[in-house]
Amino acid sequence: MTLIKRLAVPALADTGALLAAFWVRRQEVHVCKLGDALSAEELKLARLVGVQFPERVRLLGVEEVPFPLDGLTKWLARLHGNFPTRALGLTARYGIYLQSQSRWNVELIVHELVHTSQYEKANGILGFLRQYLRDCLKNGYSGAEMEQEARNLSICALRRKDQHMIPFPETA
Ligand SMILES: [Zn+2]
Repeated sequence: MTLIKRLAVPALADTGALLAAFWVRRQEVHVCKLGDALSAEELKLARLVGVQFPERVRLLGVEEVPFPLDGLTKWLARLHGNFPTRALGLTARYGIYLQSQSRWNVELIVHELVHTSQYEKANGILGFLRQYLRDCLKNGYSGAEMEQEARNLSICALRRKDQHMIPFPETA
């Protein structure tokens, strides 16, 4: 990472977080109004990955998972090669969007639930976004520590769960 980028990352991340926070909160309200509560099995998995209030979570299948501020994310993608602009899932704290073909993908659901627990640990939407954007700008999307945690914890949780919850579906 160049010096300019290193100096600019915190400011960029914080500005992006502030802009995206309102959007994320709107998505959360929308998903929590229309989405499904977690099943008994999903509640167990949510607790396994550390979600404090799993009963607040809602899941909503959609044709296309929305992405925050298309212009901003495309610009971030240009700045940092592997920042995604489309996804199979998106977590707006307690509101989780899932691409409809992946609506029952347990591994994806647990991955997104780890992000819910990260929002809780960061004390809310703004705290999470600041941390997450810094992480992605510094390490790239796939190298981001918070993404690695989501991948590792979801795999561990599924391994610890009863065998009948597996087979593993395609990864996100
Ligand atoms: Zn993720």
